[in-house]
Amino acid sequence: LNRMYGPLTALSNVQVDVMTALVSFDRLFEVLDLKPMVAERPDARPLEADGAPGIDFDHVVFRYPAAEEVSLASLESIARTDTSPAKQVLHGVDFTVEPGQMVALVGPSGAGKSTMTHLVSRLYDVSEGAVRIGGRDVRDVTLASLGETVGVVTQDAHLFHDSIRSNLLYARPGATDEELWAALEGAQIRALVEAMPEGLDTVVGDRGYRLSGGEKQRMALARLLLKAPAVVVLDEATAHLDSESEAAVQRALRTALAGRTSLVIAHRLSTIREADQILVVEGGRIADRGRHEELLARGGLYAELYRTQFAAQETLDPTALK
Ligand code: ATP
Repeated sequence: LNRMYGPLTALSNVQVDVMTALVSFDRLFEVLDLKPMVAERPDARPLEADGAPGIDFDHVVFRYPAAEEVSLASLESIARTDTSPAKQVLHGVDFTVEPGQMVALVGPSGAGKSTMTHLVSRLYDVSEGAVRIGGRDVRDVTLASLGETVGVVTQDAHLFHDSIRSNLLYARPGATDEELWAALEGAQIRALVEAMPEGLDTVVGDRGYRLSGGEKQRMALARLLLKAPAVVVLDEATAHLDSESEAAVQRALRTALAGRTSLVIAHRLSTIREADQILVVEGGRIADRGRHEELLARGGLYAELYRTQFAAQETLDPTALK
């Protein structure tokens, strides 16, 4: 175990890796001897999600805890954050992701997209309002069951310096090789691993077999398929968009999100086109919402974002209407 967790402690941005590793927070915090920012209520019950549950943001207001309180990281100090002079970043956010649907978040840098996704996995608690999964307030459910229900994939998929097998088993301990290959297949990376001299035993990471950004992202999606969470929170990678891996990542994403409820910070044109709903986030508020064509037709911020962020991808997008 130490071998696996060791590298984690060395990383400066623990939060990102906690999420990337797709492990339950309580286990990892235990190992790292950190206090989580949120506490489990004594009467917390498991979140029993039948199928893909919906997600509700109900008048969500959020302020990040002030820095000195974070460093104290005591539950007492977290409880005080409501009265601290911390900066408010979400100002009454309301939306619903229907069961099994995909909602894409787009918006300028600093608009609050990542913050919204953090609240679904309960990295932080809302300051006002509520976030519900399957109708249950995330503050009322056990952290372990929330960790099992919500799979989080961030931009930088972190791979441990270890075999591909170990990197995958982390998502579902006890999975058979057959299950690992099936996940690699769904994530569009099976052929690559098959071609490696040592297959599943190939050591990856900075000092091992170097995977490209697109390949790492597909490895993260293979982990997601193994974990099989009912809800997916995904921050799509911006880098490594090239036509070859784009098509593969797109197929992998489609497989990973099928039958699940998802909230995606979208950087890919193909994703926003497929989203059941796009939320345009600006200054901690939802400035507009709808599907791609209708938002585009309305002009405004979405049309501007499309022009600056997405239009250049038209040639990469196999689904694009030419
Ligand atoms: P980007 O597209 O650049 O990732 P974003 O839309 O995801 O941006 P957030 O990361 O949610 O935006 O940030 C929203 C606001 O909250 C920003 O003003 C940011 O500076 C602030 N913020 C983000 N994380 C923290 C934190 N841990 N502590 C305090 N403030 C934060």
